[in-house]
Amino acid sequence: MIFSKVELAPADPILGLTDAFKADPRQDKVNLGVGIYKDESGKTPILKAVKLAEEKLLTSEKSKSYLGMEGVQAYNRAVQTLLFGSDHTVVNQSRALTAQAPGGTGSLRVAAEFLVRHTQADTIWVSNPTWANHQNIFQSAGLKVQSYAYYKAETHSLDFDAMLADLNAAKEGDLVLLHGCCHNPTGIDLNEAQWLQVAQLCVSKSLVPLFDFAYQGFGAGVEADAEGLRIVADTVPELIIANSFSKNFGLYNERIGAVTVVAANDVEAVNAFSQIKSTIRASYSNPPAHGALIVSTILEDEALKSMWEAELTQMRERIAEMRSLFVRSLKDNGVTRDFDFISHQNGMFSFSGLDKAQVSRLKEEFGVYIVGSGRISVAGMTKTNMPVICKAIATVL
Ligand code: PMP
Repeated sequence: MIFSKVELAPADPILGLTDAFKADPRQDKVNLGVGIYKDESGKTPILKAVKLAEEKLLTSEKSKSYLGMEGVQAYNRAVQTLLFGSDHTVVNQSRALTAQAPGGTGSLRVAAEFLVRHTQADTIWVSNPTWANHQNIFQSAGLKVQSYAYYKAETHSLDFDAMLADLNAAKEGDLVLLHGCCHNPTGIDLNEAQWLQVAQLCVSKSLVPLFDFAYQGFGAGVEADAEGLRIVADTVPELIIANSFSKNFGLYNERIGAVTVVAANDVEAVNAFSQIKSTIRASYSNPPAHGALIVSTILEDEALKSMWEAELTQMRERIAEMRSLFVRSLKDNGVTRDFDFISHQNGMFSFSGLDKAQVSRLKEEFGVYIVGSGRISVAGMTKTNMPVICKAIATVL
């Protein structure tokens, strides 16, 4: 008997919350836990550009035969253009190679497995705090996880000096996980000068950046959000990027992302990429096609691409509007604590500063679900649920 000694796994901090939310019978309950975009009516819509691409695929797709290990090649080219722009040295010099992978999570896992098995890297530095699944993914792949300072709670801002000091203590060949934009959970990103400093530190200490790029387009726009990544790619000889289209194309359940390796020269890129493909072969052999075909169909068609960009802009602007409304509504509910910092954060999340006891009261007494760390998904707020949320927060503060 082998299963009798298996212990029950603890609930996932974010997905476990969704299970509890679903089981809650209250009518006016609100889920601000998981990072899923909701429109003003509280729905997670399929983008129009996606539906049109799917209609096109229905008639143009001729076969369901296996893809290669690296997935849809037109998709992989389109990913590189989104990441680096249309004219970047790492692409022009054939130093960047991309493999389609299942979502941001699958891309991170493939990257981590490759790094553990085929390079000397054994440690990855992640920001404190970071996305709840990072440690889990990296440790499961066999990496040691260390954390670097990032967030100063008193001022709700980036503790950049402490971040540099911690990364200075990393050893040669260590990996540094960087959030490309819309840092999860704090919503606080580096500015241009800070990106350059981090890139230079990586060069001088021989550290290898691993970019987690799950929110391109949710900060300031598709191009502006890639600024940090492009500065780093201009500066360091080697890096890896794991990107996701779950959020910016609304393709959550299609599991579509990519892992891109950038090496010091074209020969090393080919070698590294061959091992990324062998990692994929040993994990799931080759990826599913549908999500990649949707993304490449959209990005290769000027009209569909403009439609997608307009829909993405609408999502970004709605979240920004909810940020301002949230801050205003808290004041209207008599909250005197300063929450203005929430208006300046980027992306889907805000790190509210609410403590565990307050988070627990929000759930138990008001049916308002947020992550234990105090992270709130602003993307789940609407004009309709805002009064419930703000009244609840005003009461527990
Ligand atoms: N990285 C970060 C920072 C995320 O927030 C998420 C999704 N919550 C992911 C990666 C994973 O994305 P996916 O759902 O595409 O696996």
